[in-house]
Amino acid sequence: MIYWFFYSNLQLFMTEEIRLLKEVLILPKKISIITHRNPDGDAIGSSMALSRYLTKQGHSTKVIFPSEYPVGYGFIEGVSLSVIFDSDPDQARSVIDNSEVIFCLDFNGLDRVDKLGENIQFSKAKKILIDHHLDPEPFTDIEFSDINASSTCELVFKVIEGMGDIAKIDTSIGEALFTGLITDTGSFRYGTRPYTYEVASKLKELGVDDYKLADKIFNSQKEKHLRLLGHCLANRMEVIKDYGVGIMWLTKQDYIDFEIQRGDTEGIVNYMLMIENIKVAAFVLEQPSIIKISLRSKGDISVQEIAQKYFNGGGHKNAAGGGVYANLQDIIDKVKKVMPLYLPKIQS
Ligand code: 5GP
Ligand code: MN
Repeated sequence: MIYWFFYSNLQLFMTEEIRLLKEVLILPKKISIITHRNPDGDAIGSSMALSRYLTKQGHSTKVIFPSEYPVGYGFIEGVSLSVIFDSDPDQARSVIDNSEVIFCLDFNGLDRVDKLGENIQFSKAKKILIDHHLDPEPFTDIEFSDINASSTCELVFKVIEGMGDIAKIDTSIGEALFTGLITDTGSFRYGTRPYTYEVASKLKELGVDDYKLADKIFNSQKEKHLRLLGHCLANRMEVIKDYGVGIMWLTKQDYIDFEIQRGDTEGIVNYMLMIENIKVAAFVLEQPSIIKISLRSKGDISVQEIAQKYFNGGGHKNAAGGGVYANLQDIIDKVKKVMPLYLPKIQS
Protein backbone atom coordinates (compact mmCIF):
# COMPACT_ATOMS: atom_id res chain seq x y z
CA MET A 1 0.00 0.00 0.00
CA ILE A 2 2.71 2.42 1.07
CA TYR A 3 4.76 1.23 -1.86
CA TRP A 4 1.89 1.93 -4.25
CA PHE A 5 1.74 5.47 -2.92
CA PHE A 6 5.46 6.08 -3.57
CA TYR A 7 5.29 4.42 -6.94
CA SER A 8 2.36 6.49 -8.10
CA ASN A 9 4.15 9.61 -6.86
CA LEU A 10 7.16 8.57 -8.84
CA GLN A 11 5.01 8.31 -11.96
CA LEU A 12 3.42 11.68 -11.28
CA PHE A 13 6.57 13.65 -10.77
CA MET A 14 7.75 12.85 -14.25
CA THR A 15 4.56 13.23 -16.29
CA GLU A 16 5.10 16.87 -17.26
CA GLU A 17 8.81 16.34 -17.95
CA ILE A 18 8.02 13.37 -20.18
CA ARG A 19 5.52 15.48 -22.13
CA LEU A 20 8.15 18.17 -22.65
CA LEU A 21 10.76 15.60 -23.63
CA LYS A 22 8.43 14.06 -26.19
CA GLU A 23 8.01 17.51 -27.74
CA VAL A 24 11.76 17.97 -27.98
CA LEU A 25 12.32 14.56 -29.54
CA ILE A 26 9.40 14.59 -31.96
CA LEU A 27 11.74 15.08 -34.94
CA PRO A 28 15.22 13.59 -35.42
CA LYS A 29 17.77 15.73 -33.58
CA LYS A 30 21.53 16.15 -33.24
CA ILE A 31 22.12 15.15 -29.64
CA SER A 32 25.12 15.12 -27.34
CA ILE A 33 25.17 13.25 -24.08
CA ILE A 34 27.64 14.36 -21.49
CA THR A 35 28.51 13.01 -18.08
CA HIS A 36 30.90 13.86 -15.25
CA ARG A 37 34.68 13.81 -15.14
CA ASN A 38 36.18 10.44 -14.11
CA PRO A 39 33.09 8.61 -15.35
CA ASP A 40 32.08 5.57 -13.29
CA GLY A 41 29.87 2.60 -14.11
CA ASP A 42 26.67 4.60 -13.67
CA ALA A 43 27.86 7.57 -15.74
CA ILE A 44 29.12 5.35 -18.57
CA GLY A 45 26.21 2.90 -18.46
CA SER A 46 23.52 5.60 -18.43
CA SER A 47 25.18 7.57 -21.25
CA MET A 48 25.70 4.58 -23.53
CA ALA A 49 22.19 3.23 -22.87
CA LEU A 50 20.54 6.57 -23.59
CA SER A 51 22.67 7.06 -26.68
CA ARG A 52 21.70 3.67 -28.11
CA TYR A 53 18.04 4.21 -27.29
CA LEU A 54 17.97 7.63 -28.99
CA THR A 55 19.90 6.36 -32.01
CA LYS A 56 17.29 3.63 -32.44
CA GLN A 57 14.67 6.40 -32.54
CA GLY A 58 16.40 8.02 -35.50
CA HIS A 59 18.40 10.70 -33.67
CA SER A 60 22.08 11.26 -34.23
CA THR A 61 23.94 11.05 -30.92
CA LYS A 62 27.43 11.43 -29.53
CA VAL A 63 28.61 10.71 -25.98
CA ILE A 64 31.24 12.97 -24.47
CA PHE A 65 33.34 12.17 -21.41
CA PRO A 66 35.35 15.07 -19.90
CA SER A 67 38.13 12.59 -19.04
CA GLU A 68 39.09 9.03 -19.96
CA TYR A 69 36.83 6.15 -18.86
CA PRO A 70 38.31 3.16 -16.97
CA VAL A 71 39.36 0.45 -19.44
CA GLY A 72 37.39 -2.12 -17.45
CA TYR A 73 34.17 -0.62 -18.86
CA GLY A 74 35.32 -1.17 -22.43
CA PHE A 75 32.79 -4.02 -22.73
CA ILE A 76 29.84 -1.59 -22.74
CA GLU A 77 28.66 -1.38 -26.31
CA GLY A 78 29.60 1.80 -28.16
CA VAL A 79 31.86 3.20 -25.44
CA SER A 80 34.91 3.26 -27.71
CA LEU A 81 33.06 5.63 -30.07
CA SER A 82 32.75 8.31 -27.39
CA VAL A 83 34.66 11.60 -27.51
CA ILE A 84 37.03 12.32 -24.65
CA PHE A 85 37.54 16.01 -23.95
CA ASP A 86 41.00 15.59 -22.40
CA SER A 87 42.32 13.88 -25.53
CA ASP A 88 40.31 15.75 -28.13
CA PRO A 89 39.03 19.08 -26.76
CA ASP A 90 38.28 20.62 -30.16
CA GLN A 91 36.04 17.76 -31.25
CA ALA A 92 34.29 17.66 -27.87
CA ARG A 93 33.55 21.40 -28.00
CA SER A 94 32.41 21.22 -31.60
CA VAL A 95 30.04 18.30 -30.89
CA ILE A 96 28.42 20.33 -28.11
CA ASP A 97 28.31 23.54 -30.13
CA ASN A 98 26.58 21.72 -33.01
CA SER A 99 24.01 19.94 -30.86
CA GLU A 100 20.33 20.76 -30.83
CA VAL A 101 19.80 18.81 -27.62
CA ILE A 102 22.24 18.20 -24.76
CA PHE A 103 21.60 15.53 -22.15
CA CYS A 104 23.51 15.97 -18.89
CA LEU A 105 23.73 12.68 -17.05
CA ASP A 106 24.81 11.79 -13.51
CA PHE A 107 25.99 15.26 -12.45
CA ASN A 108 24.29 18.25 -10.88
CA GLY A 109 26.57 21.21 -11.58
CA LEU A 110 28.65 22.51 -14.45
CA ASP A 111 31.85 22.42 -12.38
CA ARG A 112 31.74 18.59 -12.71
CA VAL A 113 32.46 18.75 -16.45
CA ASP A 114 35.41 21.14 -16.37
CA LYS A 115 35.83 23.50 -19.30
CA LEU A 116 32.94 21.93 -21.20
CA GLY A 117 30.70 23.65 -18.67
CA GLU A 118 31.13 26.91 -20.61
CA ASN A 119 30.06 25.32 -23.88
CA ILE A 120 27.00 23.84 -22.23
CA GLN A 121 26.14 27.06 -20.44
CA PHE A 122 26.27 29.20 -23.58
CA SER A 123 24.72 26.66 -25.94
CA LYS A 124 21.30 27.40 -27.38
CA ALA A 125 20.43 23.68 -27.37
CA LYS A 126 17.63 22.25 -25.26
CA LYS A 127 19.31 20.94 -22.13
CA ILE A 128 18.00 17.95 -20.26
CA LEU A 129 19.20 16.70 -16.91
CA ILE A 130 18.89 13.10 -15.74
CA ASP A 131 20.53 12.80 -12.34
CA HIS A 132 20.25 11.57 -8.77
CA HIS A 133 22.50 14.03 -6.91
CA LEU A 134 21.26 16.50 -4.31
CA ASP A 135 20.31 20.06 -5.31
CA PRO A 136 20.94 20.28 -9.04
CA GLU A 137 21.99 23.70 -10.29
CA PRO A 138 19.39 25.22 -12.59
CA PHE A 139 21.33 25.00 -15.87
CA THR A 140 18.95 22.74 -17.81
CA ASP A 141 15.48 23.16 -19.36
CA ILE A 142 13.99 19.82 -18.37
CA GLU A 143 15.00 18.11 -15.14
CA PHE A 144 14.63 14.44 -14.34
CA SER A 145 16.17 14.73 -10.90
CA ASP A 146 15.50 12.30 -8.09
CA ILE A 147 17.84 11.81 -5.16
CA ASN A 148 15.95 8.69 -4.12
CA ALA A 149 16.92 6.90 -7.31
CA SER A 150 19.70 4.36 -6.84
CA SER A 151 21.46 5.51 -9.95
CA THR A 152 21.16 7.58 -13.08
CA CYS A 153 20.71 4.28 -14.93
CA GLU A 154 17.55 3.67 -12.90
CA LEU A 155 16.28 7.10 -13.98
CA VAL A 156 17.16 6.53 -17.64
CA PHE A 157 15.09 3.34 -17.45
CA LYS A 158 12.28 5.38 -15.87
CA VAL A 159 12.46 7.93 -18.67
CA ILE A 160 12.37 5.23 -21.37
CA GLU A 161 9.46 3.64 -19.52
CA GLY A 162 7.71 7.02 -19.38
CA MET A 163 8.22 7.42 -23.13
CA GLY A 164 6.36 4.11 -23.55
CA ASP A 165 9.42 2.45 -25.03
CA ILE A 166 10.37 -0.40 -22.69
CA ALA A 167 10.11 -2.77 -25.66
CA LYS A 168 12.95 -0.84 -27.33
CA ILE A 169 15.38 -1.86 -24.58
CA ASP A 170 17.58 -4.49 -26.21
CA THR A 171 20.16 -6.52 -24.32
CA SER A 172 22.96 -4.05 -24.92
CA ILE A 173 20.92 -1.10 -23.57
CA GLY A 174 19.85 -3.42 -20.74
CA GLU A 175 23.44 -4.41 -19.92
CA ALA A 176 24.54 -0.78 -19.87
CA LEU A 177 21.69 0.14 -17.51
CA PHE A 178 22.23 -2.87 -15.28
CA THR A 179 25.91 -1.87 -14.97
CA GLY A 180 24.92 1.39 -13.27
CA LEU A 181 22.47 -0.39 -10.98
CA ILE A 182 25.19 -2.80 -9.85
CA THR A 183 27.99 -0.27 -9.46
CA ASP A 184 26.10 2.62 -7.80
CA THR A 185 24.46 0.31 -5.24
CA GLY A 186 27.59 -1.71 -4.42
CA SER A 187 25.87 -4.79 -5.85
CA PHE A 188 22.48 -3.95 -4.33
CA ARG A 189 23.86 -3.39 -0.84
CA TYR A 190 22.91 0.30 -0.45
CA GLY A 191 20.95 3.11 -2.09
CA THR A 192 18.13 0.87 -3.31
CA ARG A 193 14.38 1.33 -3.18
CA PRO A 194 11.64 -1.07 -4.29
CA TYR A 195 11.63 0.42 -7.79
CA THR A 196 15.36 -0.38 -8.18
CA TYR A 197 14.52 -4.08 -7.96
CA GLU A 198 11.63 -3.64 -10.40
CA VAL A 199 14.04 -2.17 -12.91
CA ALA A 200 16.53 -4.99 -12.28
CA SER A 201 13.76 -7.52 -12.68
CA LYS A 202 12.52 -6.03 -15.95
CA LEU A 203 16.05 -5.84 -17.35
CA LYS A 204 16.63 -9.46 -16.46
CA GLU A 205 13.36 -10.41 -18.13
CA LEU A 206 14.51 -8.52 -21.22
CA GLY A 207 17.51 -10.81 -21.43
CA VAL A 208 20.31 -9.22 -19.40
CA ASP A 209 22.64 -11.90 -18.06
CA ASP A 210 23.44 -10.29 -14.72
CA TYR A 211 25.85 -13.04 -13.59
CA LYS A 212 27.96 -12.61 -16.69
CA LEU A 213 27.74 -8.85 -16.32
CA ALA A 214 28.92 -8.92 -12.69
CA ASP A 215 31.79 -11.15 -13.79
CA LYS A 216 32.77 -8.61 -16.46
CA ILE A 217 32.55 -5.69 -14.02
CA PHE A 218 34.36 -7.23 -11.06
CA ASN A 219 36.66 -9.92 -12.39
CA SER A 220 38.63 -8.10 -15.02
CA GLN A 221 41.27 -6.50 -12.83
CA LYS A 222 44.87 -6.41 -13.90
CA GLU A 223 47.54 -7.82 -11.60
CA LYS A 224 48.74 -4.27 -10.92
CA HIS A 225 45.32 -3.36 -9.45
CA LEU A 226 45.55 -6.06 -6.82
CA ARG A 227 49.18 -5.13 -6.06
CA LEU A 228 48.08 -1.52 -5.59
CA LEU A 229 45.23 -2.58 -3.30
CA GLY A 230 47.71 -4.66 -1.28
CA HIS A 231 50.02 -1.64 -0.99
CA CYS A 232 47.17 0.61 0.18
CA LEU A 233 46.00 -1.89 2.81
CA ALA A 234 49.50 -2.77 4.05
CA ASN A 235 51.34 0.54 3.90
CA ARG A 236 48.96 3.44 3.41
CA MET A 237 46.15 2.91 5.90
CA GLU A 238 45.57 4.34 9.34
CA VAL A 239 42.64 3.48 11.59
CA ILE A 240 41.48 5.94 14.22
CA LYS A 241 39.67 3.51 16.46
CA ASP A 242 38.45 6.17 18.93
CA TYR A 243 36.20 7.72 16.31
CA GLY A 244 35.67 4.89 13.85
CA VAL A 245 37.54 6.51 10.99
CA GLY A 246 39.74 4.88 8.37
CA ILE A 247 42.19 6.99 6.37
CA MET A 248 44.14 5.91 3.36
CA TRP A 249 46.40 7.91 1.09
CA LEU A 250 48.57 7.63 -1.99
CA THR A 251 51.58 9.81 -2.72
CA LYS A 252 52.77 11.25 -6.02
CA GLN A 253 55.59 8.69 -5.89
CA ASP A 254 53.03 5.87 -5.54
CA TYR A 255 51.42 7.12 -8.75
CA ILE A 256 54.77 6.65 -10.50
CA ASP A 257 55.76 3.36 -8.81
CA PHE A 258 52.42 1.66 -9.46
CA GLU A 259 51.83 3.35 -12.83
CA ILE A 260 48.43 4.48 -11.56
CA GLN A 261 46.04 5.65 -14.24
CA ARG A 262 42.57 7.09 -14.08
CA GLY A 263 40.14 4.62 -12.58
CA ASP A 264 42.83 2.39 -11.04
CA THR A 265 42.01 3.56 -7.52
CA GLU A 266 38.23 3.22 -7.86
CA GLY A 267 36.64 1.08 -5.15
CA ILE A 268 39.67 0.92 -2.86
CA VAL A 269 38.19 3.37 -0.33
CA ASN A 270 35.31 0.94 0.35
CA TYR A 271 37.63 -1.68 1.83
CA MET A 272 38.02 0.40 4.98
CA LEU A 273 34.29 0.10 5.68
CA MET A 274 34.81 -3.65 6.07
CA ILE A 275 36.60 -3.02 9.37
CA GLU A 276 34.29 -3.36 12.37
CA ASN A 277 33.07 -0.08 13.89
CA ILE A 278 34.41 2.03 11.02
CA LYS A 279 31.78 4.59 10.13
CA VAL A 280 33.73 6.85 7.78
CA ALA A 281 36.45 6.10 5.27
CA ALA A 282 38.61 8.76 3.64
CA PHE A 283 40.99 8.22 0.74
CA VAL A 284 43.39 11.08 0.01
CA LEU A 285 45.06 10.92 -3.38
CA GLU A 286 48.03 13.08 -4.26
CA GLN A 287 47.35 13.16 -7.97
CA PRO A 288 49.82 14.88 -10.30
CA SER A 289 47.97 18.20 -10.24
CA ILE A 290 45.43 18.09 -7.42
CA ILE A 291 44.68 16.37 -4.13
CA LYS A 292 41.53 14.32 -4.60
CA ILE A 293 39.50 13.13 -1.62
CA SER A 294 37.06 10.24 -1.68
CA LEU A 295 34.76 9.84 1.30
CA ARG A 296 32.43 6.99 2.22
CA SER A 297 30.22 6.56 5.28
CA LYS A 298 27.73 4.21 6.85
CA GLY A 299 24.36 5.21 8.23
CA ASP A 300 23.48 8.76 9.14
CA ILE A 301 26.81 10.54 8.77
CA SER A 302 26.70 12.78 5.72
CA VAL A 303 30.05 12.82 3.97
CA GLN A 304 28.37 14.99 1.34
CA GLU A 305 28.25 17.75 3.96
CA ILE A 306 31.87 17.16 4.95
CA ALA A 307 33.04 17.16 1.31
CA GLN A 308 31.15 20.37 0.59
CA LYS A 309 32.21 22.22 3.73
CA TYR A 310 35.87 21.25 3.90
CA PHE A 311 37.05 19.79 0.61
CA ASN A 312 35.49 21.86 -2.13
CA GLY A 313 33.27 19.01 -3.27
CA GLY A 314 29.95 17.27 -2.83
CA GLY A 315 28.17 14.08 -3.80
CA HIS A 316 25.79 11.84 -1.94
CA LYS A 317 25.16 11.32 1.76
CA ASN A 318 27.23 8.12 1.94
CA ALA A 319 29.60 8.66 -1.00
CA ALA A 320 31.17 12.00 -1.70
CA GLY A 321 34.39 13.55 -2.81
CA GLY A 322 36.24 16.72 -3.51
CA GLY A 323 39.46 18.20 -4.77
CA VAL A 324 41.86 20.76 -3.34
CA TYR A 325 45.18 22.31 -4.20
CA ALA A 326 47.23 21.71 -1.07
CA ASN A 327 49.91 19.62 0.55
CA LEU A 328 49.15 15.92 1.08
CA GLN A 329 50.08 15.86 4.77
CA ASP A 330 48.02 19.00 5.45
CA ILE A 331 44.96 17.32 3.98
CA ILE A 332 45.51 14.10 5.94
CA ASP A 333 45.79 16.24 9.10
CA LYS A 334 42.64 18.13 8.12
CA VAL A 335 40.72 14.86 7.68
CA LYS A 336 41.85 13.78 11.14
CA LYS A 337 40.74 17.10 12.62
CA VAL A 338 37.38 17.31 10.88
CA MET A 339 36.09 13.76 11.36
CA PRO A 340 35.77 13.88 15.15
CA LEU A 341 33.42 16.85 14.72
CA TYR A 342 30.96 14.50 13.02
CA LEU A 343 31.52 11.30 14.99
CA PRO A 344 30.98 10.53 18.67
CA LYS A 345 33.97 9.18 20.53
CA ILE A 346 33.69 5.41 20.83
CA GLN A 347 33.83 4.28 24.47
CA SER A 348 36.16 1.32 24.94
P1 5GP B 1 34.44 9.20 -5.81
O1 5GP B 1 34.87 9.17 -4.39
O2 5GP B 1 34.07 7.84 -6.30
O3 5GP B 1 35.40 9.94 -6.69
O4 5GP B 1 33.12 10.06 -5.84
C1 5GP B 1 31.98 9.69 -5.11
C2 5GP B 1 30.89 10.69 -5.39
O5 5GP B 1 31.27 11.94 -4.85
C3 5GP B 1 30.65 10.93 -6.87
O6 5GP B 1 29.61 10.15 -7.34
C4 5GP B 1 30.28 12.39 -6.92
O7 5GP B 1 28.91 12.51 -6.69
C5 5GP B 1 30.96 13.00 -5.73
N1 5GP B 1 32.20 13.74 -6.02
C6 5GP B 1 33.44 13.23 -6.16
N2 5GP B 1 34.34 14.19 -6.40
C7 5GP B 1 33.65 15.37 -6.41
C8 5GP B 1 34.02 16.74 -6.61
O8 5GP B 1 35.18 17.09 -6.82
N3 5GP B 1 33.01 17.64 -6.56
C9 5GP B 1 31.71 17.29 -6.32
N4 5GP B 1 30.79 18.25 -6.28
N5 5GP B 1 31.33 16.02 -6.12
C10 5GP B 1 32.27 15.06 -6.17
MN1 MN C 1 25.47 7.87 -10.25
